[in-house]
Amino acid sequence: MTTGQPAEVVIVGTGATGYTAAKVLRAEGFTGSITLIGSEQESTYRRPAVSKELLMGTKSVDQVRLGAAIEGVDVRTGVTAVAVTDSAVHLDEGDPIPYDAVLLATGSRARQLDFPGHVFTLRSAADVAPLHADILRTKSLLVIGGGLIGCEAAAAARSLGAEVTVLEAASAPLSRIAPPEISQMYRDLHANNGITMHTDVTVTSLDKQDDGTLRAAAQDGRSWSAGTVLVSAGSVPNVELGADMGLETASGILVDAAMRTSAPGIYAAGDVAEVPNTILGGTYRSEHWNGAVDQATRAARSILGLDVGSLDVPWGWSTQHGLNLQFAGWTGAEDEYVVVRGSIEERRFTACALRGDTLVGAIGVGYPKDIRQIRSLIASADPVDRELLGEDWLDRPHAVVR
Ligand SMILES: Cc1cc2nc3c(=O)[nH]c(=O)nc-3n(C[C@H](O)[C@H](O)[C@H](O)COP(=O)(O)OP(=O)(O)OC[C@H]3O[C@@H](n4cnc5c(N)ncnc54)[C@H](O)[C@@H]3O)c2cc1C
Repeated sequence: MTTGQPAEVVIVGTGATGYTAAKVLRAEGFTGSITLIGSEQESTYRRPAVSKELLMGTKSVDQVRLGAAIEGVDVRTGVTAVAVTDSAVHLDEGDPIPYDAVLLATGSRARQLDFPGHVFTLRSAADVAPLHADILRTKSLLVIGGGLIGCEAAAAARSLGAEVTVLEAASAPLSRIAPPEISQMYRDLHANNGITMHTDVTVTSLDKQDDGTLRAAAQDGRSWSAGTVLVSAGSVPNVELGADMGLETASGILVDAAMRTSAPGIYAAGDVAEVPNTILGGTYRSEHWNGAVDQATRAARSILGLDVGSLDVPWGWSTQHGLNLQFAGWTGAEDEYVVVRGSIEERRFTACALRGDTLVGAIGVGYPKDIRQIRSLIASADPVDRELLGEDWLDRPHAVVR
C-alpha cells in the first residue's frame, strides 16, 4: 500500500456497486481490510434477473450470482448500517466498524403507493417467491406502473399463464426512456402476447372484494380487478444514511466525477449517487446496471488515489417477451428521434435522440454495436450533421467505447 491510501474500507450495499467496488479494490492491489455490509440476506446477485428469469422461475438466485467470492473481503449479509460517524460505521447489530474510507452503495428501494391491502413490490430476490406463488395461485395480475420493471414483470407473469393488465399513469408505457413510436411498438408487443394495457390511468384506491380479488379504481371512474396486484411505480434512492451525516444530496447523494461526496473519505456510487453529466451539464442518477458497475470501478480507483478518467455514457437494457431493448445516453420522450437503421415496425432498429444538433442518446433493438458506436459519438460531444445520419454514418469508423 502506498502512502495516502486507506487501510480500512467499508462498503455499504452488496449490490452490483458494492460487489464491483470490492473486486476492483483487490484487483488494483489493495491489501487493507474491506468490509461489505448488506441488509439483504441474499447478497451479490444480478438484480436485473429479479423481474425476468427469477420471476419467470427459469433460474434460481444461485444461477444469477455476480461472481466468485472475493478473497479477503468480510461480507456481512442481513446487516444494516444505521449511521456513519467520523470514524466508524454503526450497524443494527454488532460492533461499529472503523474506517478510513466508506463507499455508500445503498442503491434504491421500490416506491410504495399508499394503498391498504395486499400489494406486492418488486426490487429484490426476497420479493420474488411470494409474488411468484401468488401469481400462480390467482392466475391474474394487475400491474400498477408501465415502466421498465412493470412491463418486464407483466411479461414474466404472462409466461406463467396469468391474465395480465398493466395500468400506466402517463399516456404511454416506457415514456421515461422512449418516444411515442417506440412506446406504441411496446404496447403492440404486449397486446400480441395477450397483455392488456391502459394508459392515462391514475389509480386512486385499491380495495379487497368479497371474492378475495383486489379492485383498483381510477380517478375517472374506471376500475379493474385481479387476484394479485404489483405496484411498480419507480424507485426511491436510499440517501438517508448519507443525508443523516450531512452529505449534500439532491435526488441522490451528490458526488463529483471521482465519486467523492461532500465529506472527505466518503464516496457514493450506483443507483444512490447523483453524478455530474459532463456532456450535457447538470447531474443525473444512472439507475441502470452498467452505470452501477462503471461508477463502482471509478469509486474503487478513487479511494486508492488512482486516475478515474471520465464517466461512461450510461446505457441500459430491458428484455420483454424475448425482445432485447438497449438505450444509451439521456433519452426522453421530448427529444427528436431519427431512425438510422432498420425499422420500428419490424422491431429491429437503431434510433438516435437529438436535442438540436446535439446527440443525446440512442435506443434500439437488435443492433448492440450501433448503441456502442453512438455512445462514442455522444462522448465526443461533436455536433451532428443531420444530412449524414443513416447507416453509412453509423458504419464509419469511430473510436468505439467498451
Ligand atoms: C427488478 C429490477 C430489474 C432491473 N433490470 C435491469 C435491466 O434489465 N437492465 C439494467 O440496465 N438495469 C436493470 N435494473 C437496474 C439495476 O439492477 C440497478 O441499477 C443496479 O442493481 C444498481 O446497483 P446498486 O448496487 O447501486 O444498488 P442496489 O442493487 O439497489 O443494491 C443496494 C444494496 O444496498 C443495500 N442497502 C441499502 N441500505 C443499506 C444499509 N443502510 N445498510 C446495509 N445495506 C443497505 C440494499 O439492501 C441493496 O442490497 C433493474 C432493477 C430492478 C430492481
